[in-house]
Amino acid sequence: MGITVSLEKANSFLQDHKKEYAFYAPKLYPGTGTFSDTDIIRYGEVESFDEIVWDQKSDYSFKEILLPISQTLFYFTEEQVTMPKTDARKPVIFLRSCDIHALKRLDQIYLENKFEDPFYKALRENLIVVLMGCPSSFDTCFCVSMGTNKTEDYDVYVKMVDGAIVYDEKKEDTPEFVEENEYKVNVPDSIPASIKQSKMWDEYNSRCISCGRCNFACPTCTCFTMQDIFYSDNAKVGERRRVWASCEVDDFDTIAGGIKFRKTKGDRMRYRVMHKVSDHKKRFGVHMCVGCGRCDAICPEYISFANCINKLEDAIKEVETHE
Ligand code: SF4
Ligand code: SF4
Repeated sequence: MGITVSLEKANSFLQDHKKEYAFYAPKLYPGTGTFSDTDIIRYGEVESFDEIVWDQKSDYSFKEILLPISQTLFYFTEEQVTMPKTDARKPVIFLRSCDIHALKRLDQIYLENKFEDPFYKALRENLIVVLMGCPSSFDTCFCVSMGTNKTEDYDVYVKMVDGAIVYDEKKEDTPEFVEENEYKVNVPDSIPASIKQSKMWDEYNSRCISCGRCNFACPTCTCFTMQDIFYSDNAKVGERRRVWASCEVDDFDTIAGGIKFRKTKGDRMRYRVMHKVSDHKKRFGVHMCVGCGRCDAICPEYISFANCINKLEDAIKEVETHE
């Protein structure tokens, strides 16, 4: 049934443990939204339960805690390489069901993909997962279609009820999981490579502005680029960083000689869609997309990834009739 504690007592718990644990949860960042006078909800460190946004979906996901937007991997001089100092505290992250499924996708990509990424592993192995339930579906969610609306992969379930905190470590309480979303998607069982020839991608050539926001909001987009920064006061000293990258942005796939694999925005949209609802499943048995709907909500051109998935069936028929 869960144990109920007052907000005051729950907040004291966070204060008493903040030297050993870093608590991360969705927080409101006033005035930092896309348009003037708009806010944003993203993950940040919290010191009290009052700071947590319980009743709205976060615009950006938790991934920036495990995969920082810009992460220094090492510092170098002519003589030596030094690793950066790391936070000794264990991370505790408040996640909804879809994001716990997204965490599994990150594990597949960063730990089960032939090599283990040591930077991700160092943060991941001490991670404590706190489940936040979803009393109802938020706009643009399609987690039910993607099978990510429920989970048992958490350490403790926490919810706020009438200003008090209820927690359950023994999994006796049934968490609030959504059973239905307004958005529904139908992912075809098999998408042929010839989908490349479909006219469905042409629309994105004119609509998409290659801003990359969809990738940055997505909890399962993990591409990065490497940057060697040379300090201006001594050009032989610097640091290597890995920085988020976006497959929707021009030049993402430009290689030596100026060769590009995906020249148009439609090509890049196709690449993202195939990665999310076809290629990852072939390798790991589950779709990469968890149906959080953040990409739909954040796109400045109102491009809906859910609608795009729903066009695939007709596109498959279109290319098959021309074969
Ligand atoms: S709905 Fe969009 S943002 Fe969410 S996991 Fe799928 S592709 Fe990523
Ligand atoms: S957010 Fe929209 S406009 Fe920006 S790259 Fe993604 S699909 Fe294109």
